[in-house]
Amino acid sequence: MASSIASDKFYRCAGPNCGVLKRENDRWWLMWTSFANQNIPFLYLCPWDEKIAEEEGSLHVCGELCAQKLQSQFMGNVRQNQLKRL
Ligand SMILES: [Zn+2]
Repeated sequence: MASSIASDKFYRCAGPNCGVLKRENDRWWLMWTSFANQNIPFLYLCPWDEKIAEEEGSLHVCGELCAQKLQSQFMGNVRQNQLKRL
């Protein structure tokens, strides 16, 4: 019983101006950012996985369009930070 993960969790899309709720059979994606060696920002993308979805910092994404928007946001932020450092 302890090993069964509650399936009644609510996930909301992290896409800009989206916020739809995930339903049971939706094929969602997960994205997250992290800093690898030398402080280089990385953007990760993978198909939905319940375990990764529960991890702190993971972004829940309803589809390709929202993934693209988040990617564009990420790239914009990276560029902005690069400009600040100059
Ligand atoms: Zn979305």
